[in-house]
Amino acid sequence: MATVIFDKATRRFPGMDHPAVDAFDLEIADGEFMVLVGPSGCGKSTALRMLAGLEDVDSGAIRIGDRDVTHLPPKDRDIAMVFQNYALYPHMTTADNMGFALKIAKKHKDDIHRRVTEAAGALGLGEYLDRKPRSLSGGQRQRVAMGRAIVREPQVFLMDEPLSNLDAKLRVQTRTQIASLQRRLGTTTVYVTHDQVEALTMGDRVAVMKDGVLQQVGTPKEVFQRPANAFVGGFIGSPAMNLFRLPLTTDGAELGGLTVPVPRTAREADATEILLGVRPEQFEILSSEDLETPALDLVVDAVEDTGAVAYVHATAKAGQEAVPVVVRLPGRPVHGKGEQLRVTVCPEAFHLFSARTELWLP
Ligand code: ATP
Repeated sequence: MATVIFDKATRRFPGMDHPAVDAFDLEIADGEFMVLVGPSGCGKSTALRMLAGLEDVDSGAIRIGDRDVTHLPPKDRDIAMVFQNYALYPHMTTADNMGFALKIAKKHKDDIHRRVTEAAGALGLGEYLDRKPRSLSGGQRQRVAMGRAIVREPQVFLMDEPLSNLDAKLRVQTRTQIASLQRRLGTTTVYVTHDQVEALTMGDRVAVMKDGVLQQVGTPKEVFQRPANAFVGGFIGSPAMNLFRLPLTTDGAELGGLTVPVPRTAREADATEILLGVRPEQFEILSSEDLETPALDLVVDAVEDTGAVAYVHATAKAGQEAVPVVVRLPGRPVHGKGEQLRVTVCPEAFHLFSARTELWLP
């Protein structure tokens, strides 16, 4: 069983005011595709490198299956890592690059040939086996790097931003291929990315990190629909969730003309404010004739038109303050700078967070 367990694993670097990875607790199931995601500097690569044995663990432990690997050298961990820059040997062919680790491990030639041929088949590299990296495209090199990991038949695959050198279109294609290949092989995989779309589309579960601290672990649906705190709410989803700090009244809170119900269970003792999250796609535009329906009034600042969807950047008046709001609209926009819009939100789409702790309020 290739489960992976981080048990309060901590890594400190000199000069940082907090550990790069801080008492990190995570259990990854056998065969699971786990994505570590978070903004630059949150510690996700360090966590992966600790699992790989490329970074020391200052305190806590890491286990793979029933083995404590905390202080084992990388070669004894039975893992294979795919790096961002692929790290291919330039003078070797695809076949030699893929089979190199097996050769070092003194595997039989026939066994190496079989494994390389099988992996090349699965990755669509059959016709490139005799080519050297310089005569391969970026996408093909990426697949050779994957192939090199696969042929080793490790207990765990580790991948550190393996798609970041590909162009946007190839990245989308390749993420689907990697995810389906992983499911076919059933090998436990830990994948690092700063791209939340990649995380949500590829992972069985997603672990969101910030400042070295794990914020939430859950399925893509869970972290999207029920973010543990305002940071996760803002980080997962694109464009980011709109966050409003609103005074609490006896009835709830007011977002412009919209009433935000705040259930008794969500009211904290002595709280005078609440953080309200609304995703950009949850706004609905009211027709200009509809002056009856309670609404939030917006003034358009700019419109980003991508063809299929448009992002309206606007200013709203929430309480005394003018606050920026992003609204995502399907289709081509008909709005321009300076125009006034009336929008509404269905109450189920409100996300409530504590204004004090920023934790989700049920
Ligand atoms: P990115 O997406 O930019 O790669 P990350 O989330 O993977 O970021 P890490 O590379 O894990 O972040 O770095 C976490 C923190 O630890 C950062 O503040 C980084 O500057 C620091 N750090 C990483 N490696 C070292 C090191 N060898 N020495 C000192 N500080 C380091």
